[in-house]
Amino acid sequence: MHKIPHRLHGTDFPGSSESFGQVFNPATGEQIAEVHLANAEDVSVIVADSVEAAASWGSSSLSKRTEVLFSFRALIASNADRLAKVIAEEHGKVLGDALGEIARGLENVEYACGLAEHLKGSFSSEVSTGVDVASTLEPLGVVAGITPFNFPVMVPLWMAANAIACGNAFILKPSEKDPSAALLLADLWEEAGLPAGVFNVVNGEKTAVESLLAHRDVSAISFVGSTPIARTVYETGTRNGKRVQALGGAKNHMVVLPDADLDLAADAAVSAAFGSSGERCMAISVVVCVDPVGDALVTAISERTNRLVVGPASDPTAQMGPLITAEHRDKVARAITSADDDGATLAVDGRGCVVPGSELGYFLGPTVIDHVTEAMSVYEMEVFGPVLAIVRVATFDEALRLINTNPYGNGTAIFTRDGGAARTFAKGVTVGMVGINVPLPVPVASYSFGGWKDSLFGSHHMYGPEGIAFYTRAKVTTTRWPDPATSIVDLGFPRTR
Ligand code: NAD
Repeated sequence: MHKIPHRLHGTDFPGSSESFGQVFNPATGEQIAEVHLANAEDVSVIVADSVEAAASWGSSSLSKRTEVLFSFRALIASNADRLAKVIAEEHGKVLGDALGEIARGLENVEYACGLAEHLKGSFSSEVSTGVDVASTLEPLGVVAGITPFNFPVMVPLWMAANAIACGNAFILKPSEKDPSAALLLADLWEEAGLPAGVFNVVNGEKTAVESLLAHRDVSAISFVGSTPIARTVYETGTRNGKRVQALGGAKNHMVVLPDADLDLAADAAVSAAFGSSGERCMAISVVVCVDPVGDALVTAISERTNRLVVGPASDPTAQMGPLITAEHRDKVARAITSADDDGATLAVDGRGCVVPGSELGYFLGPTVIDHVTEAMSVYEMEVFGPVLAIVRVATFDEALRLINTNPYGNGTAIFTRDGGAARTFAKGVTVGMVGINVPLPVPVASYSFGGWKDSLFGSHHMYGPEGIAFYTRAKVTTTRWPDPATSIVDLGFPRTR
């Protein structure tokens, strides 16, 4: 069985741990590899290497860093098909979707290519007589990124591109479910000319994460994953004196007002609910129909859902792949059953979906559940699968209340032709990313990505300007060149006037 190692200073590193995780191809149900799961000692070895690498990379010229980032950008683009294949094999998403993920990751590399502009400090001349002040943005040293299974290329690039551009050494702890893309990214960084050790990879689970959180030489942690783990990572990391940004789970609502274009809204709901089998933190999982739009919209959504082609990435006609594991597929199927038991209506039932030739894959058909209420567990939980709940409400205010009382606040969308209603929604909703007739409002790389409430712990959003701020610390230098002849002893607190 192929064994997936860590990456230390440009070479494969098996570490000393005897623990392994299993890596499956979700479309076939076959185990395809074993991944080394690091222990604390393995993490220490990798961090020590990163500390050394950070010292020289942090003082490298901006032009050298820019050159590496530009080369890396070109390599990601020219290796997109290779990366997509690796994603598809271990994650299961179809190739078009994998290429979309790579394109959105690439955007972040392009943003980081502008590092000379992002890392400009500020300077004030003559803040007091003969005194100047300069503020510079310095790297933190060693920073770590802990990433989820659902975007094995894009989320690491959200973090690593800016972290490295800012002069830090970056340690990636990818999901143990689909770790191979991380190693391919490491190859591409190396080929781009990044010095060894600036991008290391540690594979593992809880022990690896806890070791990173405990290690005094790791200055900052970027985490993306489920809310309970995000909360723990935030609490532990900050208790240990680290800077932490921890992005969690979601329950994204899409409101459809009666004046919306129904075909457009139905296309958007189906695309955003079932793309990547609903395993996206920005997936729409609830459509809120404001009366009287419900019946017509559910019909339009159901028609489109029934036409979706479920299958493996090797089938070019497939639009939606399997779920990540058999356990997760079963959990999502149980959520559908619970909704049925709770009295909701299964407008489209994806349980029992069989893909000919891929019978052992972790497939579940797209499911639309109508007449869901707030009290149902399918509404309360983050399902993270191809399940779209429909909630019907009488008024716009009721739709807004539903979203604002939800503990999550990652993304949301409104579909309407009424600019005033859209503006009121955008202003009043307690969610970090809002779409107006845009169902997946993932910000472009020059803005930052982040939810509110239980969808993000920490003060910084991910990537864009907030990413640069997260991976740097300001140093303010106050300078004067006085005439020694005028120098006196003065114990008073220095004044500027
Ligand atoms: P997860 O929380 O299970 O795992 C995320 C990372 O944490 C992985 O690297 C994993 O190895 C590690 N981990 C798992 N258990 C741990 C533990 N007990 N202690 C320490 N580390 C642990 O998440 P997942 O299943 O890989 O990804 C899906 C989740 O991620 C969903 O909840 C989804 O909403 C969320 N997500 C959020 C965003 C966002 O930007 N907010 C983006 C993508 C995914």
